[in-house]
Amino acid sequence: MAKAATKTKWKSRAVTRLIEAGSMTECKHCEERVKFKARERHQQVICNVYINGAWDRVEHYHEPCYSDAGKPFGDPVD
Ligand SMILES: [Zn+2]
Repeated sequence: MAKAATKTKWKSRAVTRLIEAGSMTECKHCEERVKFKARERHQQVICNVYINGAWDRVEHYHEPCYSDAGKPFGDPVD
């Protein structure tokens, strides 16, 4: 019997978010700080990485860096 109850498949996914004040994360691609700048509303890509169906880690990218990296977790969704 197939398990129909689990509708959500836990796989890695990426979302686009505005960089928030106080952000202290580093971009996985260029290794520079993903830094908030008051006058520029830069976006970041946040990836929840799942390995074998289990959450493993979060990775942050500058939005352009994520494209440069070849969108490793697919197109970001909002
Ligand atoms: Zn970067």
